[in-house]
Amino acid sequence: MDLSLSEDQQLLRRSIREFAETEIRPHVREWDEAQHFPSELLPKLAALGLMGIQFPEGYGGSGMSAVDYCICIEELARVDPSVALSVAAHNGLGAAHIAMFGTEDQKRSYLVPLAKGEKLAAWGLTEAQSGSDAAAMRTAAVRQGDGWVINGSKQFITHGRYGDTMVVMAVTDRSKGNRGISAFIVERGTPGFEPGKKEDKLGMRASETSEVIFENCRVPLANLLGEEGQGFINTLQVLDAGRIGIAALSVGLAQGAYEAARDYAFVRKQFGQPIGTFQSIRAKLVDNATRIEAARLLTYRAAELKDEGQRTTLESAMAKLYASEIAVRASEDGVQIHGGYGFVKDYPAEKFFRDVKLTTIGEGTSEIQRLVIARQLLAS
Ligand SMILES: Cc1cc2nc3c(=O)[nH]c(=O)nc-3n(C[C@H](O)[C@H](O)[C@H](O)COP(=O)(O)OP(=O)(O)OC[C@H]3O[C@@H](n4cnc5c(N)ncnc54)[C@H](O)[C@@H]3O)c2cc1C
Repeated sequence: MDLSLSEDQQLLRRSIREFAETEIRPHVREWDEAQHFPSELLPKLAALGLMGIQFPEGYGGSGMSAVDYCICIEELARVDPSVALSVAAHNGLGAAHIAMFGTEDQKRSYLVPLAKGEKLAAWGLTEAQSGSDAAAMRTAAVRQGDGWVINGSKQFITHGRYGDTMVVMAVTDRSKGNRGISAFIVERGTPGFEPGKKEDKLGMRASETSEVIFENCRVPLANLLGEEGQGFINTLQVLDAGRIGIAALSVGLAQGAYEAARDYAFVRKQFGQPIGTFQSIRAKLVDNATRIEAARLLTYRAAELKDEGQRTTLESAMAKLYASEIAVRASEDGVQIHGGYGFVKDYPAEKFFRDVKLTTIGEGTSEIQRLVIARQLLAS
């Protein structure tokens, strides 16, 4: 397997890095403190093709590969993990579900404006009572005449408030367990579909997360996404791909935290010399650099297999588990290397430390990744 980047991919990395440094870096702290979702950035992300990274050009996308996708998410996360999370949720969950399982009409109507960045996607699986055990959801859709009527609510939805097009999972036949769950496309403005509470978060504060509520929300029969009863099965396939994105986000975040610590270590002097000359600080930097590279390789390997059209349940879960856990480590070491300055907001270390915790929770916690890996590797 060739994991070296092509010239085009190196150019892609440089251009997204330059964009993130000039258009995002100056605002990171302000957006975080105000919990401001930077919707003003969306047209710029769209102009770079970042709202439809992997979707075919015929559907308004950029037609890039899964490895290219990782590079884009990594470079955004290196500067602001919140922006990377929004781009990953839009591309890798809501829009991806339509791209993977939508009919031609659904792709024309919903995927094209999402891929062009004219609209923003959201994806609703989690509920207040059902997170890891997502199939225990209560939200239900009942067929009535020429439509489906949805009732229930979803919790922790990225773009629950700002999203224009939401893919929502709902029970259509409770007697069939996880084969009785279906997916639906719901557009903002549909009567009975309202955002609820906006979450006040530890980290990822510039990525908007809200509850959404469905009260007799009626959508046409044509808004059933995928086959009736296949919504949960399809969700697992969406998550196989989505987890590669969260792995890439973790790698980028870890890289940002590592670079900030490395640079600080050669500016900060104690005992008459830069702290970066002390062996225990060097060991932290070296160990993190090594773990980040290992996580990047696992992530690109999963992405390459996806590009080859292979199933990546195992590789995606391994990449997500490892990358998110080493990112937590890199961010914690980043704070430690900054000493007291790692504890205050004048330096980026404390924000990486807050943002990173989402990576071991979203799109399946570390515990759930271990269950997924165990199911693939170990008998019974
Ligand atoms: C910022 C943010 C954005 C999000 N965006 C979205 C989104 O866009 N769409 C969406 O649908 N969801 C979203 N989520 C929800 C996210 O996917 C869930 O929070 C996650 O899956 C965990 O579910 P939970 O929070 O209910 O935790 P729980 O499932 O209640 O888990 C609590 C703890 O128990 C552990 N646990 C649970 N079951 C087991 C088990 N069988 N074995 C061992 N340990 C177990 C968990 O690992 C965890 O440590 C988002 C969450 C956050 C915080």
